Amino acid sequence: MKKRNLVVANWKMNPETPEEAKKIFSKEKAVAKKLKNIDILICPPFPFISLFSKITVPKNMFLGAQDVSTERKGSFTGETSVDMIKNLGAKFVLVGHSERREMGESNETVTKKLKVVFDADLTPILCIGEKERDREGTHLAFIKKQIKECLSGLQKKYLVGIHIAYEPIWAIGRSYKEAMSPTDIHETVLYIKKVLSELFGRDIATSAKILYGGSVEPESTAPIMEYGDVNGLLVGHASLKPEQFSEILKASNFKR
Ligand code: PEP
Repeated sequence: MKKRNLVVANWKMNPETPEEAKKIFSKEKAVAKKLKNIDILICPPFPFISLFSKITVPKNMFLGAQDVSTERKGSFTGETSVDMIKNLGAKFVLVGHSERREMGESNETVTKKLKVVFDADLTPILCIGEKERDREGTHLAFIKKQIKECLSGLQKKYLVGIHIAYEPIWAIGRSYKEAMSPTDIHETVLYIKKVLSELFGRDIATSAKILYGGSVEPESTAPIMEYGDVNGLLVGHASLKPEQFSEILKASNFKR
């Protein structure tokens, strides 16, 4: 199965105004138009999704959300449902981002959100990653636990082509120089595939799309894409700077 590279922009709680959001989006759209070999996913904060829902975009550009409610409908003050997002044109949802987990989201909640997203026929991107690494390899056990607990309750049909963003928390929000090396990324991606294979079978492991996130910047993109064995990237701070993001997109625009 051929897998196209996927680059995700996670704008987090930025920018402050709709005008700024529109500016960033239109610059990123202009770049996306010229790149034929990658898919580009923009995940703005909830209130800005509607700004882009009626805009015509190139067919390799998609809208996504950064989170979703575990509940499909009902009285849940402050929550945003998957159908609201879907009706605004979102196709993907980030689930279990470490910044949400930091606010108390458990693996159990993550599973509920994954179910809701799959049931609505959208594609979730499950975020996993350890807080720290040590020589004893406890981070590997941590990653395995996250995968097992988040995915075990799901129907097998949903696991085919599962999107997983591996984001070591210690590497998020820094400079690319302090983030993870392509060799370590490669090793961890192999480990994630091994875990998927052990838990759910080889077919699920081979069909999975594994992205890396954690201070990806233009300088680190080509080495990560080349040696990291990833199918794409999840980009935070650099995705808010269209010049930087466009360099990242260009360096990821190749066929496997
Ligand atoms: C993220 O928030 O998912 C992320 C990877 O952020 P940054 O690129 O800023 O490290």
